[in-house]
Formats: sequence, C-alpha cells, structure tokens
Amino acid sequence: MATETKNNRTPTTLDLSTDISYLKGVGPQKAQVLGRELGIFTFDDLLNHFPFRYVDRSVVSRVAEIDPEKDYVVLRGTISNMQTITTGRSVRLTAQFRDSSGTLDLVWFQGINWIRDSLKPNTLYLVMGKVTMFGNTLQMAHPDIESAIQQDKALAHPFIPIYSTTEKCKAKGLNQKGIARIVETLLDHARGQIAETLPSDIRERYRLMERETALNNIHFPKSTDHLAQATRRLKFEELFNMQLEYQYSRSQRLNQSQGRVFHTIGEHFNRFYREKLPFELTGAQKRVIREIRNDLKSGHQMNRLLQGDVGSGKTMVALFTMLMALDNGCQACMMAPTEILANQHYNTISRQTEGLGIRVELLTGSLKASQKKKIKSRLAAGEIDILIGTHALIEDDVVFPQLGLAVIDEQHRFGVKQRAKLWAKNVVPPHVLVMTATPIPRTLAMTLYADLECSVIDELPPGRRPIQTIHATDAQRLRLFSFMRNEIAKGRQVYVVYPLINESEKSDLKDLMDGYESIRRSFPLPHYGVSILHGQMPPDAKDYEMAHFKSGENQIMVSTTVIEVGVDVPNATVMVIENAERFGLSQLHQLRGRVGRGGEQSYCILMTKDNLSATSRERIQTMCATNDGFRIAEADLRLRGPGDIQGLQQSGMLEFRLADIVDDEPMVKATRDEVKNILDCDPNLEQPNHFLLRKHVSQTVHIEWNKIS
Ligand code: ADP
Ligand code: MG
Repeated sequence: MATETKNNRTPTTLDLSTDISYLKGVGPQKAQVLGRELGIFTFDDLLNHFPFRYVDRSVVSRVAEIDPEKDYVVLRGTISNMQTITTGRSVRLTAQFRDSSGTLDLVWFQGINWIRDSLKPNTLYLVMGKVTMFGNTLQMAHPDIESAIQQDKALAHPFIPIYSTTEKCKAKGLNQKGIARIVETLLDHARGQIAETLPSDIRERYRLMERETALNNIHFPKSTDHLAQATRRLKFEELFNMQLEYQYSRSQRLNQSQGRVFHTIGEHFNRFYREKLPFELTGAQKRVIREIRNDLKSGHQMNRLLQGDVGSGKTMVALFTMLMALDNGCQACMMAPTEILANQHYNTISRQTEGLGIRVELLTGSLKASQKKKIKSRLAAGEIDILIGTHALIEDDVVFPQLGLAVIDEQHRFGVKQRAKLWAKNVVPPHVLVMTATPIPRTLAMTLYADLECSVIDELPPGRRPIQTIHATDAQRLRLFSFMRNEIAKGRQVYVVYPLINESEKSDLKDLMDGYESIRRSFPLPHYGVSILHGQMPPDAKDYEMAHFKSGENQIMVSTTVIEVGVDVPNATVMVIENAERFGLSQLHQLRGRVGRGGEQSYCILMTKDNLSATSRERIQTMCATNDGFRIAEADLRLRGPGDIQGLQQSGMLEFRLADIVDDEPMVKATRDEVKNILDCDPNLEQPNHFLLRKHVSQTVHIEWNKIS
C-alpha cells in the first residue's frame, strides 16, 4: 500500500480496509453481527453505512402534541417514579416522563440496573425515541436519553443520525446510538487521515467538499447546509467512480485489445444483398450496419449494443454482421435466451441464406446427446459457419476454431457473466453485438453502458400500422370473445397471455389452465384450434404447439410470457394480456410487440380487474397512450425506479448508496463528461494528478475477457 505515496496528498492515510473488529469498542463479537447483519466488515464499510435519516435535536416536541404516527420525537423534561416491575420471570423498569404539557410512560426491558442508577430526579433530559400507544397511554420503549445540559454539543451537532440496524445487532448493543458511537470513534480515529479521491481541480470547479469533511458531515451534520454539501460531494464521487470504472475499461479495451480486423465486404455479404434480401432495408438498418462495419475494420474489438424497438428488424442487421465475419474467414454465433427463439432464428436464417453455401446449425439443450456431439465436432473442425443456439453455446466444450463474431439477442436476459464467457471463447476475443428490444432510458444508458458503443434502430419497416391498445375488464369479456372471432374470421391469429411470475407457482399455472379451458369452450373444435405454451412443458411439446400456431392451423395461442421474447408470427393481430396489472411496463411493451408485425391493423387488449392502484392505472394508461418504447422505458423508470427495470435487477450495477439515477441526471452527465475529458488526454492515467484515479481503477477494474477462465 505504502509504496507509491509520492503524489498522495496525505501520505499517512489510514488503511480503510482494516477489519472492523480492530476498531475500539467493537471486538470480535460485535464485528461478527456487523458483518452478518449489515454487511459491515471493514472500516470503509462502516464509514459508508450512511444514516438513512436524521433527527433534529433542536426541534423539541411537547407531550400534549405528540403525533404517534411520527416515528421519532425529541422531548425535553424530567423523569420520575422509577419502578422495577417483575411479572413471572420478566423484569421491566418503568418511569414517568413529564414536560410542561403532559406525561408519558417510559419503559426498559434491558440494562435496567444501569439505567436506574444513571437517571437522576429533577434533572432536565432530552428523551428521544418512537412513541407508541399502549392502551390509553403514550409510551416510549428504550428511549435515547441525553442530559439537556449538554447543550453545547447538541448545538454543534443538532442532528442525530438514524442508522439501519437489526434486532440481532441491538442485542449486541448496536442500536442507533451504538452504531453512532462506533462511527464517531472511527471518525475520531481517522481524523486527518482519510484520503481524498477526487482530483483537486474537479473538486474546486464543482465546489465539492473534501472527502473527510463530507464523511464527517454525512454522519454528524453540523447544519442542514453541511448535510446537503456532504451528500452532494459523496453522490458526485459515487457517480464519478462508476463512470471512471466503465469508461476506463472501455478505453483499455479499445486501445489494447486488437480484435480481428474485417477488411473486406465479400461474396457472402454481396450475394445475400443482391439475391436474397427479401425487402429494402430501412434507413436506420443501413446506418447501423455502417456503424458496425466501421467498428469491424477498425482494429479494435467491437462491443456494441444495438437497441431497437420490437419489430424494428434487428435480426437482419445481425445477419449482415455475421456475413461480414464469414467473408473474413471467421465463424459467427448467435445466442438467444429461449429455445423457441433460437429455433426461430435458425429457421429464418437458414431459409434466407439458402443456396449461398453457408453452413448454419442449431445447438440447444434439448438436442440428443449424439446430435450435440456431432455438431460440436463439426464446429471444432471448422465445418460450421454460423451456429445459432441457447445457453448451450457457452458450455466449455463448445469450441470455435475461428470465432469472429458473437451476437447476443435480447441481451437483458443474459447476465454479465454469461456474456463474458462468450468473449473468452477465443484467444483473440470475438467482436460482440448485443441486441435488445428493451429500450434503455438515456440516463441509464449513459451509466450502465458507458463501456459499450450504442446503436439505435429508431425506425420501423414501412407499412406497419401503430398497434391500437385498449383497456378492458372482465365485464367486457363477451365482447372480447366476439372481437376475437371477428379477427379470426378475417384470417388472423390471436395471443392470450397469462402472467406466470413464478414458474413454479401453482396458482399462476392454474390461472393459465383455467383460461385455456375457458377459451377452448368458447372457441370449440373443429372451427378453432388453440395452442398452449408454458415453460414447464417438455421441449418437443412446445415445438409442436408453436409449430401449429405458426402454420396458422391453430388460430389462438394461450401462453405464459415464454412468447414474450422475439417470437415472430406476422399474421397474429391480437394480443390479449390477462391480469395486465401484474406486468411491468417494459414487459407489456415486449408482449405487445408480438403483434403488428404484418401489414394489418393490430390490437393489444389489456385485461385487468376493476379497481386498480394508482400506479397500475398509470401504467395501463401509458400503454394505451403510446407505442414508443423509449417513452415507455422512461415512464417505467419513473414509476418503478431503476431497480425494477427488467434485467437490471441482477446486474447489481445500479446500487448507489446516495445517487438517484433519475433525479441526479445532471450530475450523471457532468461526471460522464469529466471522466471522458480525463481519459481523452490521459488514457492510462499516468499523469501525477491522476494518481488517485489510477489507484482506484487498479483496485476495481478487471478487464473481463482476460479474467474469465
Ligand atoms: P426485432 O427487432 O424485434 O428482432 P425482427 O428482426 O424479428 O425484429 O423483425 C421483425 C419483422 O420485420 C420480421 O418479420 C422481419 O423479416 C421484418 N423486417 C425486418 N426488416 C425489414 C425491412 N427493412 N422491411 C420490411 N420488413 C422487415
Ligand atoms: Mg428479435
């Protein structure tokens, strides 16, 4: 640690990675609960265990005016009538608190002797805690008590930090006050030794408090203004570090990893374009293909995110990109999150490239072992050009001698680890194109994908009519059925989707089966065919049901969200979503995207119960009002917060302690630009004033494709 301190402002900084048990007043027992209950293992963890709110000691309530709804009050008065009461084996201490307006009961169940001895009659105290109604009287259990004479201290630090804690912590003396005490000990111990992490010019320009001052004030604010400044400084640091990590790893990738260079556009690409392309590409598709083309010949490994609303034609862009790989002597693969989707891609792509001499194969988990083995050995022998599949593609024994490009469809379904595993498939990492139909709001993209290049297809193929979205309730079910019959009479097909939040949830599956039965009764054979699809069916049954729907033999598909992702049946014009209030906005939008894929007017019908919560209602209204995926994503972010955006939950990338990606958008932008400027002129962070930043990235950034084994 102490080797490179030359440029460090404070050479004797405290090692914040020190185990928390070494802090005075902690010790092994408390350290154990801190770690287990609150995730606090080191000094640093404790410093970052910020209060979730503060009580202002200078705002004193009167007993007569207590609002038992408020969780924490500060009272000022005297304590009398102390009594130790024994009932059976339990002992408690009670006392009466009195101020000029009334009285209230205090009660303790622990630490009785000590409390009884330390409280004095006729002394003014500040008594703080949560008030509850016990029968007809107000009561406060285990109040925090301070002598009101300590006014000086109270005035210097009017705010009491309130920390999250747990019952097990409290049992070890780590209640609010106990935690505040050890934080105070640590801050005292660390005085003058907490290293600054932000470059001084940035700190000056943004008028940011020093790190140590900020940490002191976030725990024990001197004033409201100090608290605001401390919070601002620490938020900035949080966002800045995140940008630094992502942008640094991106610039390292661009600068250091050569990537394969795809020099030529060749026979495969050109012949496909001239002879096979079934339609004119949209302007947006052409632009994105150019962007990709520039990446591929640049001599840097491509890591590009392709965003495009459902139905915008991402698959075709992927196919052109794969053809470029083939033209340069490489293999390509395409990974999809479900078997249905992998099958569909396989069928489309082998059909579209027929006669061009391209060897396309499919590898999924449900193939027979002997088939898998055969495909793997052909792949290893270089006898397959394009391999399409599911997670099966990333198994270790899938060996590509010449993998030049990996396409990942509907990337939000895959974890970061799985993506990284694909990168590791070759000594020279393949170019990576990830595609998603879940639009990422701008602020999120700025943060989450700071290490990816982004392309957007913002144009639908011509002739698409906007889908009409209608909200309906159970009372209108008969009308719904007759509407479905009408559409089917016109030769169209219908999806009916049920939420299956939890695949193993019996009640969800029952909803689906009941729904299926009811549809069967209303749409009987031989006039109507109804397919059913859910995740727990064996793969060949799924294929069977899907095939009958795709061929048009069955007009209705009753299913769970397994059809959400990417399924393409252009003749389907009606999407009925049952219990629509149980779906998130992005998911509703994905589902809706299954229709409106042909030239016909399509409809999405959102079935809900009668009385909806305010946010459910707003979600449904948003869906009825717009077809624009980006607007929907923004609304989703606003209504549910980033943690709930599909696929981001697992990512762990959005767990900020202080920053809020929606409210702090200006700061997200500022930190992004600052980091960009720094890396533009000093990509390896070698300048002396970037020493702290280099230290940070050396501890946090791991270039993933080298690391994964
Ligand atoms: P997504 O972006 O949702 O993956 P797909 O790639 O499945 O969309 O494309 C949706 C449908 O639009 C497919 O049937 C595809 O053949 C068709 N399509 C794609 N590009 C065009 C285009 N430029 N003109 C007309 N139809 C197109
Ligand atoms: Mg798709």
